[in-house]
Amino acid sequence: MTSFQPTPDFAAHLDAQDILRDFRSRFHIPPGPDGQESVYLCGNSLGLMPKAARAAVEQEFADWERLGVEGHFHGTSPWMHYHETLTEASARLVGAKPVEVVVMNNLTTNLHLLLISFYRPTATRYKVLMEGGAFPSDQYALESQVKLHGFAPDDAIVELVPRSGEHTLRTEDIEAKIQELGDSLATIILGGVNYYTGQAFDMAAIARAGHAVGAIVGFDLAHAAGNLELQLHDWDVDFACWCTYKYLNSGPGGTSGVYVHERFANRPDLPRLAGWWGHDPSDRFQMKKGFRPMAGAAGWQLSNAQIFPMAIHRAALALVEEAGGMAVLRRKSEQLTAYLEFLIRGLNLPASRLEIITPQRPEARGCQLSLLVHQQGRELFDFLAAKGIIADWREPNVIRLAPVPLYNSFQDVQRVGAALAGWLTR
Ligand SMILES: *Cc1c(COP(=O)(O)O)cnc(C)c1O
Repeated sequence: MTSFQPTPDFAAHLDAQDILRDFRSRFHIPPGPDGQESVYLCGNSLGLMPKAARAAVEQEFADWERLGVEGHFHGTSPWMHYHETLTEASARLVGAKPVEVVVMNNLTTNLHLLLISFYRPTATRYKVLMEGGAFPSDQYALESQVKLHGFAPDDAIVELVPRSGEHTLRTEDIEAKIQELGDSLATIILGGVNYYTGQAFDMAAIARAGHAVGAIVGFDLAHAAGNLELQLHDWDVDFACWCTYKYLNSGPGGTSGVYVHERFANRPDLPRLAGWWGHDPSDRFQMKKGFRPMAGAAGWQLSNAQIFPMAIHRAALALVEEAGGMAVLRRKSEQLTAYLEFLIRGLNLPASRLEIITPQRPEARGCQLSLLVHQQGRELFDFLAAKGIIADWREPNVIRLAPVPLYNSFQDVQRVGAALAGWLTR
């Protein structure tokens, strides 16, 4: 959109045209210091509470209260099969076949479970490629996995870093590094969207380049699920996992999703850490020796379903579906972020003062813009907070702003632009 204007009237006009505008009222918007609704741009850290979440959890309390153990079979949505009720919507969310996805555990746990199967180093092919400065949990997970196999992290983990003077990675540089590592590369694990810069990677190109050298390719989609339109199956990604409490609004510590490409669906020989919930359900309750995994991603489950987090996730996913899915959300998201970018660029600040480090091309980013604030970053962040703008601060000097299509409005974004202008003239 080339004809944005910075005025409240213009933002109100965009909101009036927004087909998703009514979804905002389906969420609890926390109040700012003045008691009015805040501008919540922290959905990349913890998405807001869907109003439907409370009733969804209450339903499970009611079943537990009324039925005790029988809730497993006679609950409103029997607990025995509860996780299966999330499969279809999760598959649509990430562009996968139902057999390729399962919801279980938490993100880092799932990353480990997947790496046990998909990081299988040999004496010569043992390297892992990841982003330099990846989210710390991912760094620790990889470091410990590499050590588990007897390798030294400094040797086995190869980190991608931007060219000097640049903030984000170029696809051609990622591809070149993959080629350079060649036969030594066992596994690639990148964020679908980098949590710090907001850069979205070309997952199809990375999968292609990785497979060309015989590597396995996985993504941590913590910042991509519910943010981007994903086509994991068509992109030929081998494995992926995501949390549900960021862009998927499924509550603090919420459950996590897992994707494993169909080509591994019937590979009981793949090494894995097993539990009874991943075992063939036809004789799961005979309690016999000899693990036989279920087909597909479900065969990586360990434990019986976490009903309460899953109840919230189900209610939250239903909103994504009701909105028309990620294609519809993404259309608004691109416009919201473009508007925010327009307002920030309109401040005409020199790069020595403030830079947007997130890529400019819509296909190279999700909804988040990361501002590198060279002077008084923390003061600016606090100034925004005092104006009821809830952003996210990352040391040493980055402010992350994530307008999301389900509950943020163009007027929210306009308020941010006005606050930034006010900061400059204060
Ligand atoms: C948010 C996030 C995590 C958090 O992991 P949990 O296991 O959910 O605590 C891990 N990795 C990335 C890339 C994240 O963005």
